[in-house]
Amino acid sequence: MTIAIEKHPCFNDSSRHSFGRIHLPVAPKCNIQCNYCNRKFDCMNENRPGVTSKVLSPHQALHYLQKAMDLSPNISVVGIAGPGDPFANPEETMETLRLVREHYPHMLLCVATNGLNVLPHIDELAELQVSHVTITINAVDPEIGSEIYAWVQYRKKLYRDTNAADILLDNQLEALRKLKEKDVTVKVNCIIIPGINDRHVEEVARTVSELGADILNCLPYYNTTETVFENIPEPHPELVAAIQRETAKHLPQMKHCARCRADAIGIIGQENSDEIMKELTEAAKLPMRPSENRPFVAAASMEGVLINQHLGEADRFLVYAFDEQKQAPVFIESRSAPPAGGGTRRWEAVASVLGDCRALLVNGAGDSPKNVLKNTGLEVYTLDGVIEEGVKGVFSGKDMSHLMRISQMHACKTSCSGTGGGCG
Ligand code: SF4
Ligand code: SF4
Repeated sequence: MTIAIEKHPCFNDSSRHSFGRIHLPVAPKCNIQCNYCNRKFDCMNENRPGVTSKVLSPHQALHYLQKAMDLSPNISVVGIAGPGDPFANPEETMETLRLVREHYPHMLLCVATNGLNVLPHIDELAELQVSHVTITINAVDPEIGSEIYAWVQYRKKLYRDTNAADILLDNQLEALRKLKEKDVTVKVNCIIIPGINDRHVEEVARTVSELGADILNCLPYYNTTETVFENIPEPHPELVAAIQRETAKHLPQMKHCARCRADAIGIIGQENSDEIMKELTEAAKLPMRPSENRPFVAAASMEGVLINQHLGEADRFLVYAFDEQKQAPVFIESRSAPPAGGGTRRWEAVASVLGDCRALLVNGAGDSPKNVLKNTGLEVYTLDGVIEEGVKGVFSGKDMSHLMRISQMHACKTSCSGTGGGCG
């Protein structure tokens, strides 16, 4: 299969008026803190300052892409650029890329990252024929990097100062090397921050050029309130132009980057249409995963009538189907819950026991198990009330806020009469 890489409107100036791109906003979290970034908004390294995009699950994103392709058939590239960092959300990012590749074999795939955690995924990126990767590298000197990054979270540990900048830089440069070994086209973004790295950008350009980067995008820093850098003025356009001239000695320049929002779609520079924004909103309301293969709903209950057990204390789950004709739940069976303890492994075991269930109704659950289960396609509802009503609510999509209201008032763990197993 040949993928026409010249159709990328960001990497090829000549394609930008005829081909469009779509960003799929599936990556909300970030694993570093840049001193110019306010995380109320999209990632500042690639996206438009001050804009907040919606977040979709991989399956919602695929649905959105299908609708977007109907409205904008000239889309040649699917990119993931936030709203956080794609590889701070590797499961969501990789699943989205797999789904898109499966359904659109000729589509160009592109990701934009801070580079901290892309390395472990490069082999699969290459297998999926992800042809374009952007890494934002603002400094190749850890002393300068330590002024730009407040912290870096790497392998579950938090680093600060030059340690943080060192770890980030090592991973960025190693990722660049490996991406080039795999023949991926790499753009490097460098944010010009006056007084911090403006005299250092040429050094960045020289270093990344030696490692094989294909193109450099020197972006002016954007002043944002509630950030460490909020008092630093934006660089003058003449300074930006001078840096672009200087760094052009080392690398071709991208000058038409529009810093699109993390859910941008269409020709670069054009606003998202109302029609497409409506599709995005609708996609966000869909189930996180398709539920055709999940015909059941499970509940945690002591006596089989009320939803009155916390996830952490349930020793069995009651599984129900739904009789569409009678509009009534049908009890199927009782399944043993995995034993207490084991942290995330316990929740993965619950996901496996309830692999054919679309929802689990409990009286309380911690955020951590909820997230683990949600990522496997099992939505956890914390409800107070009769099982029958909850099961009906899930299958019919009816409002269940009257069941939720009471349980939301109990903080997690305060309502657990528990076994001490806890919710992790
Ligand atoms: Fe913000 Fe992006 Fe930096 Fe993360 S990488 S802190 S989202 S600018
Ligand atoms: Fe292209 Fe820049 Fe927009 Fe990314 S942010 S899609 S590189 S124009």
